[in-house]
Amino acid sequence: MSELFADIIIDISTERLDRTFQYRVPDELKDRISCGALVSIPFGKGNRIINGYIVNLTDTPEFDPEKTKDIAGIKDDNSEKAVGRLLSLAAWMKHHYGGTLIQSLKVVLPKKTPVKQVEQKTIRLTADKKTIDVYVKEFEKKHQVARLRLMYALMEAGAMDKKLITSKLAVGTPVIKALENRGLVKVDTTVSYRNPLVFEPHEKKINTLSIDQKSVIDGILSGYEKGDLRPALIHGVTGSGKTEVYIDIIEGMVKKGYQAIMLIPEIALTYQTVMRFSARFKDRVSFIHSKLSPGERYDQFLRARSGELDVMIGPRSALFTPFPNLGIIIMDEEHETSYKSEQMPKYHAREAAEKLASLWGAAFVMGSATPSVESYLKAMNGTYNLYEMPERITGGELPVVYTVDLRKELANGNRSIFSERLRSLMEDRLSHREQIMLFLNRRGFSSFVSCRKCGFVYKCPHCDVSLSLHGDKKLHCHYCGYTAPMEPLCPECASRYIGGMKAGTEQVEKLVHREFPGVRTLRMDMDTTRKKGDYDRILSSFANEEADVLIGTQMIVKGHDFPNVTLMGILAADMSLYSGDYRAAERTFELLTQAAGRAGRGGILPEGSGVRRSMGEVVIQTYSPDNYAVVAASQQNYQKFFEEESFYRKIGSYPPEGHLLQILIEDKNLKNASSASEDIARICRKSEEVQVIGPADAAIARINDVYRRVVYVKCSDYEKLACIKDEIELDRMQREDFRGHIEFDFDP
Ligand code: ADP
Ligand code: ZN
Ligand code: ZN
Repeated sequence: MSELFADIIIDISTERLDRTFQYRVPDELKDRISCGALVSIPFGKGNRIINGYIVNLTDTPEFDPEKTKDIAGIKDDNSEKAVGRLLSLAAWMKHHYGGTLIQSLKVVLPKKTPVKQVEQKTIRLTADKKTIDVYVKEFEKKHQVARLRLMYALMEAGAMDKKLITSKLAVGTPVIKALENRGLVKVDTTVSYRNPLVFEPHEKKINTLSIDQKSVIDGILSGYEKGDLRPALIHGVTGSGKTEVYIDIIEGMVKKGYQAIMLIPEIALTYQTVMRFSARFKDRVSFIHSKLSPGERYDQFLRARSGELDVMIGPRSALFTPFPNLGIIIMDEEHETSYKSEQMPKYHAREAAEKLASLWGAAFVMGSATPSVESYLKAMNGTYNLYEMPERITGGELPVVYTVDLRKELANGNRSIFSERLRSLMEDRLSHREQIMLFLNRRGFSSFVSCRKCGFVYKCPHCDVSLSLHGDKKLHCHYCGYTAPMEPLCPECASRYIGGMKAGTEQVEKLVHREFPGVRTLRMDMDTTRKKGDYDRILSSFANEEADVLIGTQMIVKGHDFPNVTLMGILAADMSLYSGDYRAAERTFELLTQAAGRAGRGGILPEGSGVRRSMGEVVIQTYSPDNYAVVAASQQNYQKFFEEESFYRKIGSYPPEGHLLQILIEDKNLKNASSASEDIARICRKSEEVQVIGPADAAIARINDVYRRVVYVKCSDYEKLACIKDEIELDRMQREDFRGHIEFDFDP
């Protein structure tokens, strides 16, 4: 029998013990031991007996096996598999993303928090069918859309949690009061802490699945049966029936006795989603979201652990649900940037989910209308199984998209922010009381400089990203530190229309009022959504048609359905295109595709229905109408975008073709920050297989009097970068005088 060794972590409350210790597993314990087991071990010189968790098992000893101590005994014989898997995941995270083991453990292990009891209000439909019909007719006639929305939802669900009504349905307390006064609904107050959302939905029956849906469901479930554990990527346009597919696959796994984790960006956790999952899985599904208190959240984990739940739905952190027998992880909208953590360890939930699934031997399924370049490439080369769902279930028409060249507008003497096309379409919609959304693309906005006449953009000659303006005259590359002076005239066409793009949403709102007097507007951006509830209030106000135009940043393009919106104006498609990082084109494509999908969701209303509702139209205003991201988005052609984009990534050896490690060095002392970054760059340069860029000032070179420097390291081999990271961490630990702070970000 070969020898077995265990890496054991002792105490996760103190950074001082941030390491594992290796012990030998005695023969008599071999059959009973597994990752995650709680064991007792002799520790230190006096061989004091203490407890520890096994995070890894191996047959290759780290030290001389003769000198390796034996595990003394097992404390918790039937310690859960789930804990073991999560501990292994933490160990993997530390290696893969850097930081301390304790930082990783704190991410994966649920934090014990006492559960506070909360008052829960449930709204229940109380009137009989006849009364309901009478009122519904009245509300329809008076066009009281908020009341109608609530009535329709309650007619489907019977009863609903108030939190859900105000947040996801965007219906306020006054509306509930109004219905209560008419005897239509009743408000029940209970004290509970178990189920964060309560309602009793009836399931909308879907009689026949589409052919695409069937083949995806069968493919994934039978693949799993046959032992094909390759992750699956579902590329399906919005409305192609992906959610239905997820639900059916989960149901198939649950029937076999497994549990499921469904990851979803918080913003996409809409009322409809909650309803659909609850209808199928009743009280065996739970939802994690930011409105839960830490206690409620912990309670959901306890329920999962004790076998009360089959399905957990939530953002990133739902991945760490300690299910006893996890069978499947599904990740919707897998391209979403919110899946990446911004704190150490800066893990990507997609990679972590893939790892966790492989630890469990579980299935892993991803879905998106605009898959990340990383995932689609893996699908192309066979690492992932690819499923395509190109058709909308409802057969809904995609909107008509016009691309407007802003350089031509300027040449024709139009200096306003609205092109002729957009202005005339806005007039048309306003005169027919249809709604408009104006999207100001400020994602990743940095102060790039461009020419409004010819579209020229200053770019770094070494990194092929756009340069940012610092102060008045100096242009900077955030990757390599390259600088160039800004000339008063365009280097390309010698016009004086060169400068930074400065328009903000507030300014756009002013201009809308100036050009369309009397128009009712709402604005949604960081400034108008500071307070709790602001976001929901704006959305519900717009849904209630209290405004004609909603102006906003990327917040407005995600997931909301406003049937009366028939025009989407994208004011400056270019802003995210020149955000100065390698994902700029990908994000632009995504945002434009999503934004375009917002218009015309309600479908055209037939003539004679009293109101007009036109087909969806979208105007993309841009200085780069020929850019492949803009062109592909206007044609809603993912394939085309992917081909060009992966080509550029290859040329620049950016992910996924190569890997990029960003090392951020922070120090209160400028000199120390500089010398530390020089040292670190030197360590990196010792390796011949990597390309080192920098050190340079970070995009924000100083925050709160802390100086920030960055070094970028490129290499085709991820493992190589992980080793360099280890070397840097070791080097810093050995320097007593180092007071600064270092963060690693892989494939930022
Ligand atoms: P996606 O998640 O791809 O956006 P959904 O699963 O939400 O797509 O489906 C879009 C709409 O079509 C939903 O209202 C859903 O209830 C409905 N739907 C899904 N599958 C079917 C089907 N097989 N037959 C009829 N309607 C369906
Ligand atoms: Zn020019
Ligand atoms: Zn550069």
